Amino acid sequence: MQTFDAVIVGAGAAGLFCAGRAGQLGLKTLLIDHHPRVAEKIRISGGGRCNFTNLDVGPQHFLGDNPDFCRSALARFTPQDFLALVHGRGIGFHEKHKGQLFCDRSAQDIIDLLVSLCQQGQVQRWQPCRVGSVKHEAGVYRLQTDEGEVQTPQLVVATGGLSIPKIGASDWGYCLARQFGLRIVPTRPALVPLTFDIWTALTELAGVSLPVRVRTEVSDRAARRRAPVFDEDLLFTHKGLSGPAALQISSYWREGHTLEIDLAPGFRSEPELRQHLLNLKATSRRQVVKEIASLLPARLAEVWAGADTGLNKPICDVPDRALSELSVQLKRWRIKPDGTEGYRKAEVTAGGVDTRDLSSQTLQSKQPGLYFIGEVVDITGWLGGYNFQWAWASAHACAGALAS
Ligand SMILES: Cc1cc2nc3c(=O)[nH]c(=O)nc-3n(C[C@H](O)[C@H](O)[C@H](O)COP(=O)(O)OP(=O)(O)OC[C@H]3O[C@@H](n4cnc5c(N)ncnc54)[C@H](O)[C@@H]3O)c2cc1C
Repeated sequence: MQTFDAVIVGAGAAGLFCAGRAGQLGLKTLLIDHHPRVAEKIRISGGGRCNFTNLDVGPQHFLGDNPDFCRSALARFTPQDFLALVHGRGIGFHEKHKGQLFCDRSAQDIIDLLVSLCQQGQVQRWQPCRVGSVKHEAGVYRLQTDEGEVQTPQLVVATGGLSIPKIGASDWGYCLARQFGLRIVPTRPALVPLTFDIWTALTELAGVSLPVRVRTEVSDRAARRRAPVFDEDLLFTHKGLSGPAALQISSYWREGHTLEIDLAPGFRSEPELRQHLLNLKATSRRQVVKEIASLLPARLAEVWAGADTGLNKPICDVPDRALSELSVQLKRWRIKPDGTEGYRKAEVTAGGVDTRDLSSQTLQSKQPGLYFIGEVVDITGWLGGYNFQWAWASAHACAGALAS
């Protein structure tokens, strides 16, 4: 039987970074992953360019039962700290928008950085290698693995969430948490396209994209305080809505709730848009659809004011009341998703190991010597590099605790 100071299960973003740090802090560290390829999620992230952090990171960019839980780890390992590593390896990067940092070349640069941190820390990596039963006796964890039995006083779970099962996602981390009596906040797909059963009428819009402001109905006052409004691009697909606006709001959306989408965010309010339409009515003889095509993509304008609508006429002939209704529909389009495209398409998993059972300083659970880091924890970031920053920060906090 081999003995290690720390064993980390899951060689994704959080596991690799934690193992590298722990090794460099002098711990004999073993990193195990059941998937044949290292850090597949990093490889496919950010469209292959990995949005590895965001310049503006705070608890307000995360959700979970207690988003404030992430505050301590995020404060002790900031985006600038990760950037120092990126600079140190000469990895080219650029800011895309809203503080989101992407590799110039490829996500492989970030994987290489993490693997080299592990090599510097003399981390042993067993991959692919499955972990079977885990037992805890006399302060020691004993793990049955494909490579034989290993023991360690400190076990770190970095097995991520449930999204994209074909590249290694599993519920192993949640099962282990339950085995040791820890609570799990129910999981659900997040940052995921939304689907609609009434969609047939809108399939002709597939491919249309436009900037919108989106919010979701919420069930209680506390949730309303937390649920943000997103100004992002919306993409119509054959099944429903995608693009950053839909992905962001999907993390907050709950079954049965309605979305409210502002299709004309350039107008501050619905009365302002109504006045604009009334001014056009006074000065223009063009068809309504032509006029609103200056506000919306032409195919979308066609749905709101085209041949099949009562607005298929010159704007000067449309009653004021109909223009008022149109401005309400454009500023407050209310639509109820019937579901999401599920874990197959979700970028992350919301829910996970309950933060009430974890230390925000060390990520150690109330089961001594057992730690949870990264996405397996009930902390979910917005789209924009926040999930990786949580992976780095929670891994860093944990590695420091392992070595103390
Ligand atoms: C398509 C896509 C694009 C994304 N783009 C971005 C982005 O640009 N920016 C961003 O911040 N976030 C992005 N994310 C989210 C981000 O990838 C994750 O939040 C992040 O990888 C979580 O890190 P983690 O280490 O906790 O989990 P993961 O990176 O998922 O790693 C978990 C590891 O555990 C292993 N594992 C699972 N079960 C077992 C088991 N039973 N035994 C052994 N090993 C196991 C898996 O094989 C995997 O290697 C994206 C996600 C997806 C799916």
